[in-house]
Amino acid sequence: MKKIAVITSGGDCPGMNAAIRAVVRVAMANQIEVWGIKNGYAGMIANDMTQLDSRSVGDIIHKGGTFLGTARSEEFKTLTGRQKAVANLQAHGIEGLVVIGGDGSLTGAKLLAELGIKFVGLPGTIDNDIWGTDYTIGFDTAVNTALDAINKLRDTASAHGRVMLVEVMGRACGWIALTAGLAGGAEIILIPEQPFSSENICRQLLESRAKGKQYSIVVVAEGAGSAIDLGKVISAKTGLETRVSVLGHIQRGGAPTVSDRLLASRLAERAVRDLLQGKSDIMIGYRNNQCVEVPITDAISKKKDIDPELYRLSDVLSQ
Ligand code: ADP
Repeated sequence: MKKIAVITSGGDCPGMNAAIRAVVRVAMANQIEVWGIKNGYAGMIANDMTQLDSRSVGDIIHKGGTFLGTARSEEFKTLTGRQKAVANLQAHGIEGLVVIGGDGSLTGAKLLAELGIKFVGLPGTIDNDIWGTDYTIGFDTAVNTALDAINKLRDTASAHGRVMLVEVMGRACGWIALTAGLAGGAEIILIPEQPFSSENICRQLLESRAKGKQYSIVVVAEGAGSAIDLGKVISAKTGLETRVSVLGHIQRGGAPTVSDRLLASRLAERAVRDLLQGKSDIMIGYRNNQCVEVPITDAISKKKDIDPELYRLSDVLSQ
């Protein structure tokens, strides 16, 4: 293989730049030409790609987002769209791809491989919801952002004796809520994987006041329900002064943490090495402190569960 390309696709996450940088520099170290595709699969269809070298990826390791841009492309979901994309790659002589993105982007890459383009995927999403890897690129930074907000909200909740609800990202998965909630000392953590009733939450909050707690932090994953609605119910049923903060997209941005930069760099190096060995249809994951190859069908079809031990511990520590 003499020429590869790198693409970021779907939702952006901190650490994508560190991954692109590593892809480019490992490729250059192996005398491989490397191209950057702009704006995800939309750019692949529009033939929006540019050759990169070590200098083009300088000064990006510390930046959130992705300097290549990312996008969602409906056209890519059609066979005609993907054929256009493949024709553009082939016209440039690009034989292999490193695809950085979430499960949607990795699903798209698998379909591209069916048309003759080899690829190795990297799990890039703040949600940590991809099977086959302990952590996804971006998760650690997002959790630290959420934790920073929880710490600040705790100060004001404590000063006023309030119930503070903090809604964090996670439509289908509670990893951010569980991890930030545990680290932030939340009294209650609500995640989509664990059903709950608002009656129980209200009862729990009143009991904790009776036990001497002066204020409460409740972390709510967006997929568990609306924190705003729940806040209204709590306020009406318990009479406790309640405030709600919805963190939203702030969790997607910011300088990647040490962990995310290292993860991105390690996974990207392995991805390029594997691609150069002719491997395809895999994602590089990180398990037990090692890079591992994960069959792409497993990565995109198996559901990654939350860690039940973490959930149990958060419950014990919230007493
Ligand atoms: P993420 O990669 O963060 O999960 P999306 O699910 O939005 O984000 O996927 C990003 C892009 O990947 C989509 O806009 C589309 O171009 C492509 N994609 C997603 N799912 C499929 C699919 N089933 N078939 C083909 N392409 C897909």
